[in-house]
Amino acid sequence: NMSRISVGMASCGQAAGAAPWAARLAARPDFVNRVIVRNVGCIGACYAEPLVDVRTPDGLHHIFGEVSSEVHWPIIRTAQQRSMQQGAWLVLRERCPGLLTGFEDLETVKAPRAAFAAFFEHQKRRITGNCGLIDPLSLPEYVATGGYFALAKALLERTPDDIIAEITASGLRGRGGGGFYTGRKWETAAASRDPRRFVIANADEGDPGAYMDRTLMESDPHRVLEGIILAAYACGAGEAYIFVRHEYPLAVARLRRAVGDARAAGLLGEEILGTNFSLKVGIIQSGGAFVCGEESSLLQVMQGRRGEPWPRPPYPAQQGFYGHPTVINNVETLANVPWIIARGAAAFREAGNADSPGTKIFCLTGDIPNTGFIEVPLGDGARTVVERIGGASPDEVKALQIGGPSGGIVPYTDFALDYSSLSTAGAMIGSGGLVVLNHSRCVVDLARHLSSFMADESCGQCLFCRDGLARITGLLEELTSGKGAPGLIDELAELSRAVADLSLCALGRTAINPLLTTIRHFRSECEAHLAGIC
Ligand code: SF4
Repeated sequence: NMSRISVGMASCGQAAGAAPWAARLAARPDFVNRVIVRNVGCIGACYAEPLVDVRTPDGLHHIFGEVSSEVHWPIIRTAQQRSMQQGAWLVLRERCPGLLTGFEDLETVKAPRAAFAAFFEHQKRRITGNCGLIDPLSLPEYVATGGYFALAKALLERTPDDIIAEITASGLRGRGGGGFYTGRKWETAAASRDPRRFVIANADEGDPGAYMDRTLMESDPHRVLEGIILAAYACGAGEAYIFVRHEYPLAVARLRRAVGDARAAGLLGEEILGTNFSLKVGIIQSGGAFVCGEESSLLQVMQGRRGEPWPRPPYPAQQGFYGHPTVINNVETLANVPWIIARGAAAFREAGNADSPGTKIFCLTGDIPNTGFIEVPLGDGARTVVERIGGASPDEVKALQIGGPSGGIVPYTDFALDYSSLSTAGAMIGSGGLVVLNHSRCVVDLARHLSSFMADESCGQCLFCRDGLARITGLLEELTSGKGAPGLIDELAELSRAVADLSLCALGRTAINPLLTTIRHFRSECEAHLAGIC
């Protein structure tokens, strides 16, 4: 029967200045026995951070955005002129005096944006359902939302083969970029005769503009951990690692806490939940090279070698970490696993389509009002995401850059956001970065920028990736500075195809996607650069 104030304290909230408010709220003696104050993760509306979420025992729920000391009283007056918000404010004051006392001193309250309703209304929040609502440091709060139910169900009632069959039936595809079927990967590892097997959570999220994994780990680390434990149980692995980039210190700290708490609760270690299944989980911080998100390169680094991909086969699920079968799944992929095991494959398929079942997290950035972290059914139209959730005006949007630096740049239309539709357009979902570009943006210059990024991140093993990408970047600099020679666009296209054909790993094979999609969809803009008229 207590009100609850949740302060968004993921990296986005802290960067926007939430920490002092969280500390002041937590220190208020008059809140004792009246108001629960919790630091939570990110609810997704990063554009309105710092965010304070207020829930009263009688069901009133209000999200206050852009909380700041300077705007307190003017904002309240503004809010009071709007009848709905005035009503909500009066209800707060009348029904929850302890809460209001807190706000008066807090000097922080800003009226919620009208856009919040649309921002959440068009989403389907499955695996992000706890983000911004529960305390990521609290195992009891995770359990209270149904957490570890799937693990108990799996260990006590289902065999490892049952779990693999459920994941295979769900059609879950890797959310890190490749889109490979998760069940197939697990089947391969589980079928090995080698009894020593590993599971690795790939949290080396390196795409500019993408922070799906970071937000999940910061906001709901136990969900990721539960997915790892389920994967290990299904594949017969006794050891698991989380490979997380060192630029994510908050995620690392919260994961460490989650692992420690789970171990203390008997959810990790020996004979989990009284069964004969045992699992150790470790956390390894990466050096931050983009190529180390590639599976074989990741394994090289974990074994103390240079981060250089190896030719496949053998695939890691056959021979991975120190030569043993190793399942490597992206963080978002693993976060889907408890949901599927708890509710079943058929329920999972209720969202998405036959080719791309389930939901996907996207990070909306760029020229759009409501930047943030969203979850929608795969196959939803781009307009739903960009206009209804993102709040963009349709005539202002020129193009979308989807799938990170190896994704594509595509004209803005209402195409479906799923694996096959984006592949048809020459792009890919990738890990879920979605950058919105307005008409003032030059797509050729963006292609040059992304090509330069990929050239810098090449590990240098392959001639065409190493020197070809550098050459492409140089030619694009000539093009964007109006110094391109006749025939340059065709030369770029030809060189790009050679890089794709003659590169060993996905980095080289996909690095040319932004350029090829720019030539395919925006050729007139390329030609205008060549002619020196833009
Ligand atoms: Fe390294 Fe590029 Fe070759 Fe991949 S394609 S192995 S990143 S040089």
